[in-house]
Amino acid sequence: MKLDAPWLGSPATQAVVAALGEGALFVGGCVRNTLMEQPVSDIDIATSLQPGEVTRRAEEAELKAIPTGLDHGTVTIVSAGIPFEVTTFRADIATDGRRAVVRFSDDIVEDAARRDFTINALYAEPDGTLVDPLGGLPDLEARRVRFIGEAADRIREDALRILRFFRFNAWYGEGIDAEGLAACADAVGDIAGLARERIGAEMRKLLAAPDPAPAVAAMAASGVLSASLPGANPALLPHLIAREEEAEAEPDWRTRLAALGPQDAAGALRLSRAEMRHLDQIVICLDALDTPARAAAEYGAEIATAAHLITGALSPMPWAETGAEIARGTAAIFPLRAKDLLARGLKPGPHMGKALQAARAAWLASDFSLDKADLIEKALE
Ligand code: ATP
Ligand code: MG
Repeated sequence: MKLDAPWLGSPATQAVVAALGEGALFVGGCVRNTLMEQPVSDIDIATSLQPGEVTRRAEEAELKAIPTGLDHGTVTIVSAGIPFEVTTFRADIATDGRRAVVRFSDDIVEDAARRDFTINALYAEPDGTLVDPLGGLPDLEARRVRFIGEAADRIREDALRILRFFRFNAWYGEGIDAEGLAACADAVGDIAGLARERIGAEMRKLLAAPDPAPAVAAMAASGVLSASLPGANPALLPHLIAREEEAEAEPDWRTRLAALGPQDAAGALRLSRAEMRHLDQIVICLDALDTPARAAAEYGAEIATAAHLITGALSPMPWAETGAEIARGTAAIFPLRAKDLLARGLKPGPHMGKALQAARAAWLASDFSLDKADLIEKALE
């Protein structure tokens, strides 16, 4: 079998494999997603060459080589501005549940065996020829996310694989593998030992899947959800997804996260300040529970849409109406300016701020119908 995809034939990609010569293979997401006809986000390459040799060959071909993870055998080669992660074949020799001690290998079967899932251990030669050392193709065709080897052993080596199991199920799985699920449930206690930013990175990707609801339901049932995100409740999620489909809204992990209603998402997932602010805004908008139009005028279309997708998840009102109302509220422009009040003799300062605020509240309550003259009157009251 031969892969065929634009990324494979592109001059940037071909320059990298030409530089590396014999023994460079594409691996991981780029192979898996091409076979599944899904978009490819980054290109990983595995090679029997030692990292020093990878660097030497890249530089000889006048490509930039960055030693991103030399002790893990990873060199990033930049070609036409695109980064390619090139990693020497490895075998794990010791693991403590979080980090692995590795040795380099020239054996593709060893390299494949230390990967997490069979669908992630598919390789392709520079011309696209598929290389499948562990027989992962039937799993991929059946959309089965299956651990390589004994699930329990693989989780003991690296507990992050619990979250990866659900992440890859959310994106690519059809029907969750019972053995994998049971092993994850048995190992929930190990999640506490993981760095929160690593959990956060997995959860962001998981919740960005087109429909993460079945995977999240399985996480909840196995105890993984509350171990990763205390207080999260999966009940609303399937309804939100249905609502999103009706609204033709792009998947947004932040909206899905808000719908789970966790206790402290920012701490549990190490959210950035911007992400925290976005989530807070959704929650504030939800608490205010105003009409879609007023929510949009107050918080903007993005936050109002997120909040109303969530509150509307169980409502019979067609989304078309809600969406039109959000558009109307987004377009509404508060007609009163400070200069209008200055012209009427009001002095700048806190009093002015209060007057503007009162006028704005009246304007919102009037469903944007009060005009400037009405609002000047309100402000001067
Ligand atoms: P994507 O980049 O689309 O999220 P990916 O499969 O390329 O998916 P990466 O996290 O980039 O995922 O990892 C690249 C490959 O490295 C994986 O396909 C897998 O083979 C291997 N891998 C990554 N993390 C682990 C892990 N914790 N345990 C075992 N193998 C892993
Ligand atoms: Mg990748």
